[in-house]
Amino acid sequence: MAVDSQRLYREANILYWAMALLDLTYDYVDQCVANAKESPPFAIPRLRFVEAGLLIAHSYNDRAESTRSYGAKSGMIGMTYLTEEIIDGAFVKFIHNGNASPRWLSDPAANKVAEFLAFTQHVQYIKTGKQVYISDYQGSTKLLTDPQILTHPDVGAGMNLFGDGNVERGVELFEEQHNCSTNKYSRLSHTV
Ligand SMILES: [Zn+2]
Repeated sequence: MAVDSQRLYREANILYWAMALLDLTYDYVDQCVANAKESPPFAIPRLRFVEAGLLIAHSYNDRAESTRSYGAKSGMIGMTYLTEEIIDGAFVKFIHNGNASPRWLSDPAANKVAEFLAFTQHVQYIKTGKQVYISDYQGSTKLLTDPQILTHPDVGAGMNLFGDGNVERGVELFEEQHNCSTNKYSRLSHTV
């Protein structure tokens, strides 16, 4: 497989894992809200990752000329694309890769989302036994894209599961960098 195709497969894989981790987080949050005596005194931001898919274009033409110019036989993969839903509105980086502190953003709505996403990292970190969380949160205040997944070095037994963006030290430094005391969303939960 061409290097570019491998990179896109990896990117799609990261996106699907991030979707699952964010679903897990919302399941947990919804359960906490359902079990609480009163509803929280703040709105819970609702975000999701973009729908995406790999588009694989096969060469359709077996004329000698095209075989020569593309170096591919008929039916072989020509190009791979990662297609994603379009994100409307301002594009924001909420949390950088490799640093689990939310960015301070001048837009109050974006700032709330950054704070909420920092809380989701906490839920993921605890729910996966301090092994995994989503990093590099970015997109709009509704739709996220292009995440990274940070894993503890034990995950994957030395195999590079999630590409170059997997800053393993990020997981080791999580408890140092993550600040719950200023995060109002952490009140959603008393068990993580
Ligand atoms: Zn926390």
